Amino acid sequence: METIKTLCPYCGVGCGLEIVQDRNQAWKVRGDRNHPSSHGMVCVKGATVTESIRSDRLLYPMMRDSLDQPFRRASWDEALDTIVDRIQKIRNTTGPDAICLYGSGQCVTEDYYIAQKLMKGCLGTNNFDANSRLCMSSAVSGYVQSFGADGPPCCYDDLELTDCAFIIGSNTAECHPIVFNRLAKYHKKHPNVKMIVVDPRRTPTAEVADLHLAINPGTDIDLLNGIAYLLLRKRAIDPNFIEKSTANFAAFAEVIGSYTPDFVASRCGIAVSDLETAANYWEQSQRVLSLWSMGINQSSEGTAKVRSLINLHLMTGQIAKPGCGPFSLTGQPNAMGGREAGGLSHLLPGYRFVKNAEHRTQVEQFWGIAPGTISPNPGRTAWEMITGLETGEVEMLWIAATNPAVSMPDLERTKAALLRSPFTVYQEAYYPTETSAYAHILLPATQWSEKTGVMTNSERRVTLCSGFDAPSGEARDDWKIFAEVGRRLGFAERFAFDNVSEVYQEFVQLTRGQPCDMTGLSHEYLRQEGPQQWPCRENEPKHPAKEGKRLYADGRFHTPDGLARFAACHSRGLAEPPDANYPFVLTTGRLYGHWHTMTRTGRTDKINQLHPEPFLEIHPRDAAKLKIKEGDLLEVRSTRGKARFPAKVTKAIAPGTLFVPMHWGALWAEGAEANAMTHAASCPDSKQPELKACAVQLVKVGAQLEAEVGELNWAKSAVGVSF
Ligand code: SF4
Repeated sequence: METIKTLCPYCGVGCGLEIVQDRNQAWKVRGDRNHPSSHGMVCVKGATVTESIRSDRLLYPMMRDSLDQPFRRASWDEALDTIVDRIQKIRNTTGPDAICLYGSGQCVTEDYYIAQKLMKGCLGTNNFDANSRLCMSSAVSGYVQSFGADGPPCCYDDLELTDCAFIIGSNTAECHPIVFNRLAKYHKKHPNVKMIVVDPRRTPTAEVADLHLAINPGTDIDLLNGIAYLLLRKRAIDPNFIEKSTANFAAFAEVIGSYTPDFVASRCGIAVSDLETAANYWEQSQRVLSLWSMGINQSSEGTAKVRSLINLHLMTGQIAKPGCGPFSLTGQPNAMGGREAGGLSHLLPGYRFVKNAEHRTQVEQFWGIAPGTISPNPGRTAWEMITGLETGEVEMLWIAATNPAVSMPDLERTKAALLRSPFTVYQEAYYPTETSAYAHILLPATQWSEKTGVMTNSERRVTLCSGFDAPSGEARDDWKIFAEVGRRLGFAERFAFDNVSEVYQEFVQLTRGQPCDMTGLSHEYLRQEGPQQWPCRENEPKHPAKEGKRLYADGRFHTPDGLARFAACHSRGLAEPPDANYPFVLTTGRLYGHWHTMTRTGRTDKINQLHPEPFLEIHPRDAAKLKIKEGDLLEVRSTRGKARFPAKVTKAIAPGTLFVPMHWGALWAEGAEANAMTHAASCPDSKQPELKACAVQLVKVGAQLEAEVGELNWAKSAVGVSF
């Protein structure tokens, strides 16, 4: 029986899968032992992924004139003609900037490429953004500002070559399990290898660390600058690397001069000795590998956090060598491919920028379109699409493969904005989702199992994902839907593709000479030779696929002068710190089994058994003061919204901080949406919202008002707030 090779469609680790069909025609999945990223390993999500591929699928287009009407079945022709008519009407009246397309890191690279070509190269608006904006755009802007280009410089082999893993803002054990498996096995076998975990929660990741720094939320830059201060004081730096490969060290050194151990320990809420231990581990290691994820990225100072972490690698010269470097872990399976294909509203394909006139010209010439077709203005980001609906500036929102009615910050405001949308198209594999309630037109999309395309994982490794199942109902591939709309709008020659491999061929030509050069790749090559890391240039001797590649091995970066830039960043802290009325910091995160808003995993029995319901973590000290017992129903309130969760009393969370998982939307639990409380304050550089922290109050459900006030007072005293 044929074995199909593909990639897990869940997280950015990008584990290789093999799919076979059993005697009952059911699809079975196992890890692909030959995939260089995962060596045959899979976590529970990958192992159960085929269980939900045929459940609750959207089978045909549906339409309605207004959101208070029921959907009626429609033909593809009717749905597409309606969309095209609306686009033309808006283009001819308000203009193309009133049209927005919001995509997803679940899309394959070919989907991304065609979507952004339609918006940026045909309609003349850059309003194509993706949910990766909520996930890793701070990593993008941090790399770009420090190195001159996006792209994680490390590879997974570094997990087994490091002297010290510095994990910050990442519950790797639960959110990137196979990366963690590789690291944890190596750490266990080599007692001299250190693991530092920085996280306000004692997560399963922190459980196995040699040093857990449970810093106060929002003090990452204090900690990073504090470690830099100690390394500088110890002269544990690489002057040669700093001299030859970096710029702006003096300004950085001046800033970190004020991050003394006492100051940092007090800001972070940790012992000075622990801070010193962290700096000692860095000093004693020849190869420190930093891993980070949403805890750094989802912040109103996300870019500054990323750059402060990169600073440590630049000052110690610990980059571009085996076992060391700053390594972002992407959340979604193809967030990296989206970055490569121009899948954010400030990007063009091949790591180009819409603001760069030369880049626009290069892409316009390649596409054979008139000079000036591509707008010089960055388009709306994910959140700016929501605010555009509020103001009426956005007249059409097209959503593909994502679920903003759960995943956006400030959810009540988001839902109110979606309700105001004059025209929303929702292209999705599943029905219902929380977002389908806000759509005027539903378009059925094939999903991962039914279409072929390419995805890039966190270590820049590109895998061809071969479809193996027939499309459900009338579902079509996302790229084909975008291309068909383009053809019906009159741009037939720009979408003259017979198949998906031709789309990929066009895309890789746009990477020629760029940092992410993939001109040596094609569907055929990937099918024959297996997954490859970029850069992978045409006519260049091929690198053995089983060995990891690193960027910047020659000490030259993508800045105009080839020098990496130190950032001189002071800590600003949380955008919404706790106060007398909202005395707790609420942090949100992911669980081992569930994926994002549960569109797939909510339909997988094994995972629902693993994580049957949402919960709220509270420290025993806070719980005792508030007379809260395990399982009590608690209401969490921010200035924006509220939700209810049963209490989980645990020392895993620091006093004064609460944790809730972000997965459950209105479809899967009543009133338990983490983003009902979060806010949209964003990093000024990456425009990534601070989904990780907001100020909340806590009330035990059923208590009398007087009792609630009393509890609130207890809560205030729990975090030392005076009023
Ligand atoms: S670690 Fe990520 S990519 Fe690997 S099997 Fe699990 S969810 Fe899939």
